[in-house]
Amino acid sequence: MRILLLGGTGEARALAARLHPDFDIVSSLAGRVPDPALPVGPVRIGGFGGVDGLQQWLRDNDIGAVVDATHPFAATMTAHAAQACAELGMPHLVLFRPAWDPAGALRVTSDIEAAELVAEQGFSRVFLTTGRSGVRPFTGSDAWFLIRVVTPPDADVLPRNHEVLLSRGPYTYDGECMLLRDNAIDVLVTKNSGGALTEAKLAAAKDLGVTVVMIDRPPLPSGVTAVGTVDDAVTWVASL
Ligand code: NAP
Repeated sequence: MRILLLGGTGEARALAARLHPDFDIVSSLAGRVPDPALPVGPVRIGGFGGVDGLQQWLRDNDIGAVVDATHPFAATMTAHAAQACAELGMPHLVLFRPAWDPAGALRVTSDIEAAELVAEQGFSRVFLTTGRSGVRPFTGSDAWFLIRVVTPPDADVLPRNHEVLLSRGPYTYDGECMLLRDNAIDVLVTKNSGGALTEAKLAAAKDLGVTVVMIDRPPLPSGVTAVGTVDDAVTWVASL
């Protein structure tokens, strides 16, 4: 049975490394990042063209099961895969890494709400880690932003006062403390991405008294089977 592995995350690469070559897998990337970290084994790149395009691709490529190991905020891809598989009666699993504990954080449900909160509370030095697509709601802000992204945001969405830091995790506690201190950050804005690679910023913010604004995850589509670890995803694949 050939398995489609929807990726773009460290977990997806780890899962591909565990499954290849014993299982027949094809990894899929959206193609947003130039020079992406590639998983081992066969890889295809680019969108499928919505639910219909995905179903066609699954048929054309003789896929028997789908593991969705995309990022917890890649809600459109996750919804499309859930719908496509449900309609085709195809086995489908979501590898959904555990969320961070938001204790002590100010919780919001969107990047728009995060921008409103930053403005309301008068923060002036913002560490923004919501990705290139999460900058736009902050465009009109008067605060200063350190914007850490993998690929640069479009120039027209950048706030007046900012510095763009192009970088990819993992990050260390010491490095994150230095970044917060050197830039006199008073608020960290982050998605609740979960995972160890970018978690150090939370401990650094807590220890330095920096407020954290955390954007809650979008919910999973109802009725999907989900696991939290690569080990559990390997077990599910082996059980097919
Ligand atoms: P999204 O909003 O859920 O998806 C938008 C569209 O991109 C999908 O409808 C699909 O296009 C295409 N797509 C997304 N993931 C794909 C994949 N693995 N393979 C093929 N096509 C894919 O996704 P996103 O939030 O932009 O994330 C894009 C990629 O970046 C994902 O692979 C995700 O794992 C990774 N990533 C996302 C975040 C984040 O914060 N969102 C962070 C780190 C990594 P069609 O409708 O044409 O099929």
